[in-house]
Amino acid sequence: MRGCHAKEMPRELEDWLALESEDWSPYYPFPGNIRQAVVGALHIAQRGLCVYCGCRLDMRRPGKSYHIEHFRPQLRFEELSTDFANLFLSCGQETRDGNVAETCGTAKDNDFNEHCHVEPEYPQCTGRFRFLLNGNAAPHEVGDMAAETMIALLNLNHGELRKDREELLFAIDAESLDITDFIDPASGLAQGYAHVACSRLDGVIPKMESTAYLVHEIGGAFPGDSERELVEDCSVIEFSSRQFPILFRERWKTTCLAKQIQGIDVNGLCAEFDKLRNAAPSRSAAGKRYFVGHDGSLQAKDPDRPSEEHLAIALWNLKKRLPRPGGGWELVLDYQFPLQGSARADRGLGKVDLLGATDQGRLVVVELKVRRARSSRGDAPVLALMEGLRYAAVVHANDRDIAAEARTRFDIEVSDEPPIVQVLGPESWWDGWRDMSASTRRAAGQWEPRFFELSARLEARLGIVIECLSLEGAELEDITWRAHGPRLGHAPKMHMIHRAEGNARDVGPATG
Ligand SMILES: [Zn+2]
Repeated sequence: MRGCHAKEMPRELEDWLALESEDWSPYYPFPGNIRQAVVGALHIAQRGLCVYCGCRLDMRRPGKSYHIEHFRPQLRFEELSTDFANLFLSCGQETRDGNVAETCGTAKDNDFNEHCHVEPEYPQCTGRFRFLLNGNAAPHEVGDMAAETMIALLNLNHGELRKDREELLFAIDAESLDITDFIDPASGLAQGYAHVACSRLDGVIPKMESTAYLVHEIGGAFPGDSERELVEDCSVIEFSSRQFPILFRERWKTTCLAKQIQGIDVNGLCAEFDKLRNAAPSRSAAGKRYFVGHDGSLQAKDPDRPSEEHLAIALWNLKKRLPRPGGGWELVLDYQFPLQGSARADRGLGKVDLLGATDQGRLVVVELKVRRARSSRGDAPVLALMEGLRYAAVVHANDRDIAAEARTRFDIEVSDEPPIVQVLGPESWWDGWRDMSASTRRAAGQWEPRFFELSARLEARLGIVIECLSLEGAELEDITWRAHGPRLGHAPKMHMIHRAEGNARDVGPATG
């Protein structure tokens, strides 16, 4: 067991824990910025090595290639779930080849024996073990049940670990390596299995002088870290839709629609967008994928009552590059694209109707709307815009993880530009909101110019692109049911809803 040097609690975590009150308790998984700070501090304390097996940690795939390990399992020691002293970095859930890991934190899982364990404190814990020339680890003292228990619990004599150590011990004995050969002087990080070398050479990995290397060596290695500015306003620590009253406003009445849009506090809305981006949950940090492997089928849904989800799946099922009105194309990558890190903590965040990518490699967050019946118009475009903005903030915060998955799954390169927010609906949906009866129009007012003015201001302020597109040939009646799911016979055409249109159309007198 390799263990961990003395740890220094990061300021971010300390400040966050100090917010505990009667109404709020710290929780795990940590929000993004706290997690980054904790991972950074542990990485330094462990000199870049797994706390158990001592191999060099691969920091590129949170959850998979490494994870935050609770030495005393969260399930049984809930009160220690955010206790820094109980946290370490361990190998992740997958091996380099993508198989399920069989050692370290993954092997240990929720097992722990309070009466028979070795605390992962370097160098004391390494001293409890010895390494045989065949690479096997064994208790240093015969009869040390705790050391024996830890070897079994963490599967430290797994074939690959044993082989690595055997080769290392052979090299040490043959070439008389020095302890300093196991420390990278530039980064201060240790080489994998440095503790095995130390044990063989009767040395100790020196204490690290400086942590400045973090900026150079690790800064770019933690996904999302350099992009994500730390949240200065510490009041946003956990996702809750109540903290975003404009973005998550659900009720937009047709009466006085123009006035309601005009009344939106754009500064407040932009602040909410930034806040959500900073507090965005990370699925990767929770060990979950973004592309969950949808197969285009819809179980337990009535084919006779088509909905937005049917249309979303039908569009995805086309598997075609759709020409974009302004040139180029876009491809639907997935539907019902999940954003929640933890189902419990991130309730209310919802799923993206469709996630696409353009020929320029820019992600497209599609908010799809339909008119379910002739008698109803369906959701208002301004609600669709707000929903699209929510998703864009969270997608943007996680774009590196999403890009990495898209590369593996679809072999495409996705840029780190903010995503395009696309409000998309069949022509009938747009018509319902544009061609109102005279009396409805009088009540609603000329909402279109207000809506497009709002979009333009948001684009300028947030650096995003907002697109309003209609689909020709993608009405709910056009959806057929074949094999396992909804299909469209032809690829629909996308048309831009022009910004000047609201003024130009003859829609009767407006009273605002
Ligand atoms: Zn390990």
